[in-house]
Amino acid sequence: MDAKNAPVEMFFFPFVGGGHQIPMIDTARVFAAHGAKSTIITTLSNALQFQKSITRDQQCGLAITIHSLTLPENADITDIDMSAGPFTDTSILREPFRHLLTQHRPDCIVIDMFHRWATEVIDELQIKRVVFNGNGCFPYCVNDNLRRYTPHDKVGSNSEAFIIPGLPDRIQMTRSQLPNFLRRPSAFPDRLKSADEKSFGTVINSFYELEPSYANYLRNEMGKKVWIIGPVSLCNRNAADKTERGKLSTIDEQSCLNWLNSKQPNSVVYISFGSLARLPPEQLMEIAYALEASDQSFIWVVGKIFNASEEEETWLPSGFEERIRESNKGLIVRGWAPQLLILEHGAVGGFMTHCGWNSTLEGFSAGKPMITWPLSAEQFSNEKLVTDVLRVGVKVGNQEWASWDEKRRTVVGREKVEVALKKLMGNGEDAEDMRRRVKDIAEKARRAVQHGETSYADADALIQELKAQKQC
Ligand code: UDP
Repeated sequence: MDAKNAPVEMFFFPFVGGGHQIPMIDTARVFAAHGAKSTIITTLSNALQFQKSITRDQQCGLAITIHSLTLPENADITDIDMSAGPFTDTSILREPFRHLLTQHRPDCIVIDMFHRWATEVIDELQIKRVVFNGNGCFPYCVNDNLRRYTPHDKVGSNSEAFIIPGLPDRIQMTRSQLPNFLRRPSAFPDRLKSADEKSFGTVINSFYELEPSYANYLRNEMGKKVWIIGPVSLCNRNAADKTERGKLSTIDEQSCLNWLNSKQPNSVVYISFGSLARLPPEQLMEIAYALEASDQSFIWVVGKIFNASEEEETWLPSGFEERIRESNKGLIVRGWAPQLLILEHGAVGGFMTHCGWNSTLEGFSAGKPMITWPLSAEQFSNEKLVTDVLRVGVKVGNQEWASWDEKRRTVVGREKVEVALKKLMGNGEDAEDMRRRVKDIAEKARRAVQHGETSYADADALIQELKAQKQC
């Protein structure tokens, strides 16, 4: 094949950990579906998490492969598996990564911003670097304006509200909702920022119609070069892809579907706090009481629990599981659930979420209104988008940002959880309006990834740009 017709070669270097690895794998698959030759760079243990979906793509004729970096002997690989926290140091991969890039020089490498050391290696080898930050346009703009205008420095207490200047909407936050690293700027986010600034551009997992004024703001006011190509989760079209996403599910797909099939449309709330959050037993207890008091059907994914004893489960009211089993009211998933499959089911009428960007976007794409329960990272910004800007969710009322591995000072009481459940899952006019609005968003999401539409066109635009540069 002559150089002119050769496919563009793109490398993808996802970070380890659910919320960043999962969408980056989908992103690599999206670009392969657009005709790029995609290579996912990872470690052997992580490759196992998504190998099957890549094999299925290959069987469909897509040019997509996995390249596992060989770790130096005696490296502690348990540190860099799927359960790794966001600030895990992955620099142990530096030499194998450099070696790979000197052997094969792709047209570009899409890299997660958390591989902080890798920027230097890529730039030194003069390979085009495209950043993946795992966020949508809205939280990107919020973060940037918080840094630029520091409105949180001008309030008298952590609970006093301030407006974030410059944004298309009136967005109000409190200091207690901001990440530590924004409250006390340190060298770390500055390094992330400069990595972003010197890059070829940023791919964003969102779609233009979801947040048009923020996409425009990013491009026109902040001068960012961005390709908005999502929701990338929509590349998972068959049940196998939806089920085997991230980790192995702890619930079998069929029994989950059978249970959902036995329920009325829009009658079940799906509860999940993502791949990292660790709620304490006393918080889980409040959720359980609220579910029973509101007589609400549910699927509740309980991942890791903060400071929980391995031997005894102290986070459920006495007899709770027996009662829900007898009444067939709910399913508790201990570990990992097939989130896409559940969210897209017609019996699910609402999503109680920690507002991680992926979960939020998956909620939008499935057309499910949300109970927002932000905990860490930029989740409090995402909550504002869901509730205040798009008006498709109800706040549970958590006000306290804490790192995923830190002890929380406050517990959200059962009354607040019950109120939110009733507002979201009830038949009130507000609930109907939210359902209608979010269904409209879901339709726009599906349209955006279709041939010729916005996300499709942006993915193509990056490929064309790389192609043009290749020929220079
Ligand atoms: N996820 C899943 N099953 C689970 C928990 C999480 O499939 O039981 C997926 C979810 O669909 C999403 C990702 O893991 O794609 C979590 O990313 P998000 O940004 O929502 O939150 P984080 O885990 O980064 O806090």
